[in-house]
Amino acid sequence: MIQVSFRFYEELNNYLPEELRQVWVESNIETKASIGEIIQSLGIPPDEIDLVLVNQQSKSLDYLLQDGDRVSIFPVFESFDLSEMNQLREKPLRNPSFILDVHLGRLCKYLRMLGWDTLYSNQYTPEQMIELSLQEKRILLSRSIQLTRHKQLTHAWWVRSSNPLEQLKDLVTRLDLSSQADPLTRCLNCNNKLISIDKTEVVGRLEDRTAKYYSEFFVCRKCDQIYWKGSHYENMVKFIEQHLQTVN
Ligand SMILES: [Zn+2]
Repeated sequence: MIQVSFRFYEELNNYLPEELRQVWVESNIETKASIGEIIQSLGIPPDEIDLVLVNQQSKSLDYLLQDGDRVSIFPVFESFDLSEMNQLREKPLRNPSFILDVHLGRLCKYLRMLGWDTLYSNQYTPEQMIELSLQEKRILLSRSIQLTRHKQLTHAWWVRSSNPLEQLKDLVTRLDLSSQADPLTRCLNCNNKLISIDKTEVVGRLEDRTAKYYSEFFVCRKCDQIYWKGSHYENMVKFIEQHLQTVN
């Protein structure tokens, strides 16, 4: 037998009996048990796990536990302040979505440009933002540390830089999102998913040059904005190459 300490974070605690929640638990386990086996024996679905740290190092679920290990286990959508994480993730958060405060309009465009579901409005009150973050599991991004530390919030990140490009780079690095960018899939104005549309339906609204050189078009059904793989798209791709591929 070996002795291992575990701590499960946030939503994962819902699977655990009361006495194991939100605390470090010392546990005697069989040698040669993997983290995955322990997690399954507790009734936690492995696909709810995003990150496992053993002695502060990121490990996979196959890792075989050793005597004295301290194991922190975080859910897919983790509920702790990301700014306190020093370790880089081995794999990215899945399908992250965001809600941004009023000071982050440019960052909002960048995130939508890269395909991420991002809510932004200068009409939101802090209370509404918190509610949307909780209800829709959106990571709340704010320039206000007070707001991101609000006790009700479970998913928030304090944006330190005032420069939108730096903000984006910090966020993408912190959440390891660079491989997940999916440009030209979301409307920059209203966050709607774009749909592919036949050229004949939009040709009357295009400038001659655009109509002549491009054949593939996308539309936002909410605001009716048309997109194509012209300058918009090329700029996005250039932007990703310049700014995001180099952050890792
Ligand atoms: Zn739109």
